[in-house]
Amino acid sequence: MRKIAVFPGSFDPITTGHFDLVQRAIPLFDEIVVAIGVNSQKKYLFSLEQRQAWLKQVFEPFPSVRVDTFDGLTAHFCNEIGARYLLRGLRNASDFDYEKTISQLNNIVGQGIETVFLISQPAYSHISSTIVREIIKGGGDASPFLPTGLELKSE
Ligand code: ADP
Repeated sequence: MRKIAVFPGSFDPITTGHFDLVQRAIPLFDEIVVAIGVNSQKKYLFSLEQRQAWLKQVFEPFPSVRVDTFDGLTAHFCNEIGARYLLRGLRNASDFDYEKTISQLNNIVGQGIETVFLISQPAYSHISSTIVREIIKGGGDASPFLPTGLELKSE
């Protein structure tokens, strides 16, 4: 059976931290689906179309990585596309506390879906989309935190 993993997130915007994580996970899975979860209650800095376009651009060179979007529960999306694994990153203890509960829930709701965690590399553990958004809103240069070739135009 093909090993398919979903890497779910908001990617508002994608950072070098996300990019590094996916690159490190490529040898582990036959396919990785980087999936933007659409939550109508949440306010995003960048539109869904823009976030999706950036993901497609960044992962274009990697044939086993594709980009998708979903609404509703992550576990239901995994079941729909036949993915038995979730991929998530751990930067620190608060990521762990949050992710632990979510992964236990996804295992139940998704009937056995396993979450695979990769510990972030030290060079990326301080990077989050939240910090990048703050830099952009404050008019700073966010390029050190963005994958190469990604051009940010604030919307
Ligand atoms: P969410 O909206 O679910 O928080 P994000 O886009 O912020 O989505 O993050 C998606 C995933 O990427 C999470 O598992 C998060 O831990 C991981 N991640 C984000 N930034 C980094 C980083 N710098 N290093 C490793 N993993 C990261």
